Amino acid sequence: MRPGVHLLVAEPESVNVGLVVGPERAWLIDCGSSPAQGESIRAAAAAVSDRPLAGVALTHGHWDHSFGLAAFADLETIGQQDCQSAQRGDEAQRAARSLGLELDRLPGPSQTIGLIAVRDLGAGQVMELAHFGPAHTRGDLVVALPGADVIFVGDLIETAGPPQFDSESSVDGWVKSLDSLWAILKPNTLVAPGHGPVAEPWQVGHQRAGLAAIWGQTEWAYHQGLAPEQIYHHDQLEWPWDRATAERGIALAYAELRARGPRRAPLPLIQTRRRSDPAL
Ligand SMILES: [Zn+2]
Repeated sequence: MRPGVHLLVAEPESVNVGLVVGPERAWLIDCGSSPAQGESIRAAAAAVSDRPLAGVALTHGHWDHSFGLAAFADLETIGQQDCQSAQRGDEAQRAARSLGLELDRLPGPSQTIGLIAVRDLGAGQVMELAHFGPAHTRGDLVVALPGADVIFVGDLIETAGPPQFDSESSVDGWVKSLDSLWAILKPNTLVAPGHGPVAEPWQVGHQRAGLAAIWGQTEWAYHQGLAPEQIYHHDQLEWPWDRATAERGIALAYAELRARGPRRAPLPLIQTRRRSDPAL
């Protein structure tokens, strides 16, 4: 991708795995979908870099990004503190069964972080990890490499297809997370998504717009009193991506809105005063 930053693709889900080679040490970003694949990725990393591997940073807990962690038990492995809900959820259980793995025996990260962490790559270069709130999962992390102007974003961005909603995704949170991501991108930043070709900043804006359309239109329809199954077919609304993706997003957004309860009335302070009021 850029000097010192490599991308491996791990099948069967074509997950982008990052290898960052700093002046003194290397890090992996995500680690494959099984302990055996984790071993293969570790061997591939050793063949590419003569710097010692310091650890693994997880973009999130989904099985295709994290089940390889067992191959790195002697190193520091970092995930967001809520990443284990995706790593232990229903989808993870199904994946473990189909792979013949015992979910309880698969390790989580050795180190968890809340919002932000930095790791030294040597000679003044660093790797920065940040959590922008619940989005694709409850525990997403982005991994930024300011020296190379590359950022690994996991499944916050997809270029292989539409965004993948999980039962724990937050549509509103995802829009806000992409706002935060947008704020730290520079014109030439390379964005490594969880799946698919490396993206440019405009593609972050494009996906943000699609998610905002799902959130904003569902919010409008919710306050109009529409039932969730009526929203997709409303003749004044248009939706991004394919119908199944949009309907999944609408259902999640609707559930988020319902969980918030009734909208509160605005405060009288900001409701009444006008510019023409002589008291102002
Ligand atoms: Zn995912």
